[in-house]
Amino acid sequence: MRVHTLKRALVACALALPGAAIAVVAAAPAAHADGCYTWQRTLTPGRSGEDVRQLQIRVAGWAGSGGIVRIDGRYGAETAAAVRRFQSAYGLRSDGVAGPQTFAKLYQLQDDDCTPAHFSYTELDDGCGQTGWTGGPLPAGETRANALRTMWKLEALRRSLGDRPLNVTSGFRDLACNRQVGGASDSQHLYGNAADLVSRSRSLCDVARAARSHGFSGIYGPGYPNHDSHVHVDSRRENDRDRTRNTTSWSAPDCGVGAAD
Ligand SMILES: [Zn+2]
Repeated sequence: MRVHTLKRALVACALALPGAAIAVVAAAPAAHADGCYTWQRTLTPGRSGEDVRQLQIRVAGWAGSGGIVRIDGRYGAETAAAVRRFQSAYGLRSDGVAGPQTFAKLYQLQDDDCTPAHFSYTELDDGCGQTGWTGGPLPAGETRANALRTMWKLEALRRSLGDRPLNVTSGFRDLACNRQVGGASDSQHLYGNAADLVSRSRSLCDVARAARSHGFSGIYGPGYPNHDSHVHVDSRRENDRDRTRNTTSWSAPDCGVGAAD
């Protein structure tokens, strides 16, 4: 028995070591090479640049109740607050400064194609049995970039719901697909800005309510026509390429989610 216990202690020790090693690496400036994107400096309020923009894309899901994080490459109060929420959600020191610890967590969360750990381009690309990002109102690259932003918000939403699977039943749709499924004529799905969600572990109302704090300015769920089997989330307020006004629109009456919330 004692030998067994000792063995277990050794295993535990070996498991603890990689974590310690990572902490040392993270403390060194810009030592980490990442397959997707590597930050080269600590980012604080007042900074601006492409590195800030890359950060904003990844923390935009931590916008807070009814908020959005503008992806403008400028580290203002909005970005700092989102970084604080991100840090606190992942058990880091919550100081609103994006330094080695924050970047280490982001590297851990992002795949080499820059998508977050639990969502992928193939999950969000053209529905109706097609693949790819063409056939919508925007150039394919723009649509794909919107889908990436959608995914980082979904990752935050998923985290807030206990890190359990959140499944996308419909992401980007080209014009033909959108017509086929009877989508709204200027649907956010056409822009890569929307996702329809289901969850086996959380109720649709839990998803709809939580989405309000993760940068989604469009939410439709239970009680809204044709939305009793999924929750639709989108980023309409940030979409300057569609024909609708940039306002928030929430409706899941059965969940107490409405425009006035
Ligand atoms: Zn939808």
